[in-house]
Amino acid sequence: MKKIIAANWKMSGSKDFIKKYFNYFEKNIKNTSRNNIIIFPSYPHLAEVNSYKKINKSFELGAQHCHHNNEVAQTSCVSAAMLNDIGCNFVLVGHSEWRSLNNEDNLSKILESVINNNMTPIFCIGENYSQKENSKTQSVIDNQLQNILDNKILFENCKIIIAYEPVWAIGTGTIPDINIIEFIHSYIKSKLAQKLSSAQEKDIIVLYGGSVSTKNIKEIFSAKSVDGVLIGGASLNVEEFTKICNEKL
Ligand code: PEP
Repeated sequence: MKKIIAANWKMSGSKDFIKKYFNYFEKNIKNTSRNNIIIFPSYPHLAEVNSYKKINKSFELGAQHCHHNNEVAQTSCVSAAMLNDIGCNFVLVGHSEWRSLNNEDNLSKILESVINNNMTPIFCIGENYSQKENSKTQSVIDNQLQNILDNKILFENCKIIIAYEPVWAIGTGTIPDINIIEFIHSYIKSKLAQKLSSAQEKDIIVLYGGSVSTKNIKEIFSAKSVDGVLIGGASLNVEEFTKICNEKL
């Protein structure tokens, strides 16, 4: 199966950055048929990045969040329908940086809206440092996955990608022990496969996110339950990101 390599640009980027980025990326990317690459720019840069996607088709486009309702008048928000209309195929849902500033009550509705608008959600879950230290990782994950299990539409649709992103690993340069990554990914797959009516373990895609770089990518992919990676900081360095995309994984 192809691996997913996803770039979360967060609140970075500019028109000049994008021009230079794709100038390098398109000249140097080798293995577009081997890995699925998805780029998540911020809202103002979606159209600009999409123009490069249209020309070269070497990556897919994703957005970092959306509102759960297409129909309301809601100043400052962006709907799933709008994202689909401008060429997005993926949406990050529940990233820990978003969760730290927002009310999480609507996550299940956001996941549903992304699916109803013909895109694939990448649902971010993971424990923070104190939860890890208090051996709460599995119960945190159980609670976060409940957003999927309690919703009938999501329950019947296995086209959701999970990104396991331990909050304490994001931007810190530290990653969990590889055996822990393997264990947690397998746990997520078996839990969803047991509970979802339509999915088997092999259908559940789980990405790892948190301080992924050229230094640890091979180790991370040595865990067989890792189907891809979500990369923040290292994806802003186009040489490093292209190198990761070109890895034989
Ligand atoms: C992220 O925020 O999704 C992330 C994985 O960040 P970083 O790679 O910088 O740890």
